[in-house]
Amino acid sequence: MVEEASFGARVAAAADPARDARGVWEDLGAAGLIRELFAREPSAPADDARRLDSLITALDSVLPTGTTMSVGVQVGATIPLLRSIAPNHPRVARILADILGGRTMVCVATTEPDVSGSDLLATRGTVRRTDDGIVLAGTKSWVSNGLHADYAMVLLHDLPGRGLLGMSWVLVPLDASGVVRTPSTTEWFAGGGLADIRLDGVALAEDHLMSPRGRALSQMALASSNERLMMTFWARSLSRRALRGARDHLRGRASAGGVLWDNPVVRARFAALMAQWRGLDAMCAGERRAPTGPRERMALKASSARAVTSIVAGCVDLVGGEAFRDGGMGRLAAEVGMFNLLGGATGALEALLASHEAQLLKGADNDPM
Ligand SMILES: Cc1cc2nc3c(=O)[nH]c(=O)nc-3n(C[C@H](O)[C@H](O)[C@H](O)COP(=O)(O)OP(=O)(O)OC[C@H]3O[C@@H](n4cnc5c(N)ncnc54)[C@H](O)[C@@H]3O)c2cc1C
Repeated sequence: MVEEASFGARVAAAADPARDARGVWEDLGAAGLIRELFAREPSAPADDARRLDSLITALDSVLPTGTTMSVGVQVGATIPLLRSIAPNHPRVARILADILGGRTMVCVATTEPDVSGSDLLATRGTVRRTDDGIVLAGTKSWVSNGLHADYAMVLLHDLPGRGLLGMSWVLVPLDASGVVRTPSTTEWFAGGGLADIRLDGVALAEDHLMSPRGRALSQMALASSNERLMMTFWARSLSRRALRGARDHLRGRASAGGVLWDNPVVRARFAALMAQWRGLDAMCAGERRAPTGPRERMALKASSARAVTSIVAGCVDLVGGEAFRDGGMGRLAAEVGMFNLLGGATGALEALLASHEAQLLKGADNDPM
């Protein structure tokens, strides 16, 4: 535990809030912290979950939301995805070494404009095979680190009409001819480098195709599972920050001859939010002790997204008008809505979970009840 606390302190010291996600990534890499995070195999040991928690909690304590999000996506989704692919791809193995050193960034692009991001089979972007290699076409939107990255892992239809089996990951160098990047049209998530990426007849050698046939979505499932854990740890940290901010505000806000914190109704509302936070905290403690599998992580992510959005909205309500000053909690309440999207939309996850009720209700100890 002491070791994890010191890891978190070193992350907080290295993460400069004046830098964007790329700058923070370079600094974390130069300090050797990304390598330390991935020093052990990511699949099993509980220690990795602890360290991931320390990292995202430390980042949340010092960085703006957009920067934390994009560094978190790199750690939570990109690296696990590349690690699952690297054993069969020397090119990915080389890029991975540069990522761990903070010298390279890779974004992951699946979402498209005009298509529900929850339905990956509805993807419209395509890979066409030619005598010389492959040619890519399509547009991806809302890509975290899209402006900062050197490469994009892009999910495309390789064999149209083949459903799950026809999807592939393609590693796209973002300086390739035919790649057009534009900043996402949003005033939120500063520092996160959000972008739309258009692939306009991008011609590449065939070895940029990264997935053995039919494996793309199972590789994605592994990355999503890690991203969901990262988001859950982040939800816990961010909710606690909002609760502490609301409490401090109420303690200083003059009312009825005292301060608002003295009012039992106000305190009861605060307590109800804190009770939600305790649930989130307990879930995170369980994951640090014994990380769960993909199905449980879907539930974890759906539940933590609902909790963090509810807690932050409740804190804004308690703070009142002051929440809407520049830098106030009102902006956080809007940005926190992305917890319902990243790592899988909450509604889509809940729809999937309903069909796993028998296994999930059985519990981790396989209690037959
Ligand atoms: C800040 C930010 C960063 C992002 N970063 C990335 C990134 O790096 N790479 C990337 O590819 N994308 C990224 N995205 C996009 C994100 O992955 C998508 O927003 C997400 O997958 C949901 O897709 P959607 O927005 O199209 O919503 P939709 O899928 O259209 O969902 C709309 C609504 O319908 C509900 N819904 C959808 N399907 C179902 C279902 N089957 N059953 C029940 N309800 C359903 C959802 O819960 C939601 O309420 C980012 C988005 C944001 C806001």
